[in-house]
Amino acid sequence: MNSTRERVGLYPGSFDPITLGHEDIARRALSVVDRLIIAVAHTSTHDKRGLFSVQERVGLIREVLEDEERIEVRSFEGLLVEFAKAQGAHLVFRGLRAVSDFEYELQMAQMNQELWPDIETIFLVPEVRYSFLSSSLVRQVATLGGDVSGLVSPSVLKRLHEKLGGG
Ligand code: ADP
Repeated sequence: MNSTRERVGLYPGSFDPITLGHEDIARRALSVVDRLIIAVAHTSTHDKRGLFSVQERVGLIREVLEDEERIEVRSFEGLLVEFAKAQGAHLVFRGLRAVSDFEYELQMAQMNQELWPDIETIFLVPEVRYSFLSSSLVRQVATLGGDVSGLVSPSVLKRLHEKLGGG
């Protein structure tokens, strides 16, 4: 492999909405790659109902990570490996919070390897204070009127309040 070639990484997920845990993983990934593409999946592999549209999610991620020039945000449909090939990205980043994430993540990584042997999955661990944090928890707590200001960036908090009719 040409060592001078630009290293492009993909960080795929639902990001509904982006949390401080996602932001932490994305910034950490920048120490491994030259350029990171955050890829918002059009169809979630989990059975999750969306709060924000894919376009809104992309817009929010761009807003909260606008200081990182090496990050770009896209949406994608279909197989991750096909999107990765098209972007010239051989590295896929995923976050590992707890053992509960592990089994699913391992399966996905091995399936992606089966589909495209040139792909490598890199697992990154967030700061411990984000290890309980998920988008679904943020959605649930915010829907019930709880304070999620310590879990998401201010612009996400504002959009959550607008969306949920809280001001
Ligand atoms: P998906 O639907 O693909 O699981 P998510 O948006 O829920 O998408 O998560 C995308 C990736 O970010 C996954 O690898 C997930 O484990 C990771 N992730 C989500 N929240 C956190 C967090 N608080 N800390 C570290 N990684 C996280």
